[in-house]
Amino acid sequence: MEGKKFLMIPGPTPVPERVLLALARHPMGHRTKEFSHIFREVTDRLAWLHQTQGDVLTLATSGTGAMEAALINLLSPGDRVLCLVNGKFSERWAKICLAYGMHVETISAPAGSAIDPKEVAEALRADTERTYRAVVVTHSETSTGVLNDLETIAGLAQEHGRALTIVDAVTSLGAVSVPMDQWGLDAIASGSQKAYMIPPGLGFVAMSARAWTAQKESRTPKFYLDLAKYRKSLQDDTTPFTPAIGLVLAVHESLKMLHDEGLDALFARHERLRQGVRAGVRALKLTPFVQDEKAASPSITAVATPNADKIRSHINKHYDIALAGGQDDLSGKIFRIGHLGFVSERDILSALAALEGTMRALGQDDFSHGAGVGAALQAMADH
Ligand SMILES: *Cc1c(COP(=O)(O)O)cnc(C)c1O
Repeated sequence: MEGKKFLMIPGPTPVPERVLLALARHPMGHRTKEFSHIFREVTDRLAWLHQTQGDVLTLATSGTGAMEAALINLLSPGDRVLCLVNGKFSERWAKICLAYGMHVETISAPAGSAIDPKEVAEALRADTERTYRAVVVTHSETSTGVLNDLETIAGLAQEHGRALTIVDAVTSLGAVSVPMDQWGLDAIASGSQKAYMIPPGLGFVAMSARAWTAQKESRTPKFYLDLAKYRKSLQDDTTPFTPAIGLVLAVHESLKMLHDEGLDALFARHERLRQGVRAGVRALKLTPFVQDEKAASPSITAVATPNADKIRSHINKHYDIALAGGQDDLSGKIFRIGHLGFVSERDILSALAALEGTMRALGQDDFSHGAGVGAALQAMADH
């Protein structure tokens, strides 16, 4: 039906009306008091969301730009970097490091499994000369729906003493607690089209005090993404280059919404959605790709089935719900349900009802009517 499409892909995510209205405003000058006032509030709220006393910088880039900024500001060519790879986005980290001539070593886990912190511990403890400069990790691996044990991994890097912890929190920040200061994270990259509930175009980098010290030492060439420039401008509540003004107005509005909801409620909502989706999918005799409950992302659930693409196209055509497919090797083998950002219980129930209708239409109907919705209702009521 015209205009009815609902996005349940892991970004871009649905945008609330309040935010769309903010986007409809005329752009204001970015060297004005009015803009600076808004930018200050945005920056303060970003620190709140990251649970940090440190700086959070707003860039006009996609999430990958924020990842690249974090790396090139903290590291130098030749630095020894431990990249934890268990999917397409964590592979991207390694690719960026290689593009800048860093010395990459990887610890990997199969798609659908979390990185084993024991392997990280071994690698770091074996490094008695303290030559690792960073551990680079993707908190929520969007390609598979795995949530890595960031707290433990960051603790190991702290124990090592020299390795910085650089994190992709693109689909975890705003969905699950990422207490930057408490866990000792040094740089966190995120992007606007995920749990921030606004369209793509803003990248964010949060920096610890240790990260700023490393920034001064970094020899990697940089200009637009030189974070020292952004930090300096922040003193005047502005940006060094023309910001994406419309998107800043949008995130100002969406951060207000997140703040009104409160961190605990925000995380509890995503946890409920995760439980609801997993229970519903199982009741429809489908298998969540991530088996280990502890490693299941609160933002995205991948479902393993040889019918993945048929299911996706049927649900899109008949129910106007867009789901994501598998990437690379997982193409055609999984579909992914995004449930981060502006998503409520109602959306999960509709998606599961549509999934049931789709499965029946495809002749896979070995379950009672309403099985998925019923199981999700129960799981969400329990949380
Ligand atoms: C979406 C996403 C990114 C950012 O991708 P862009 O297309 O550059 O915005 C990075 N990491 C993860 C885990 C993501 O889900």
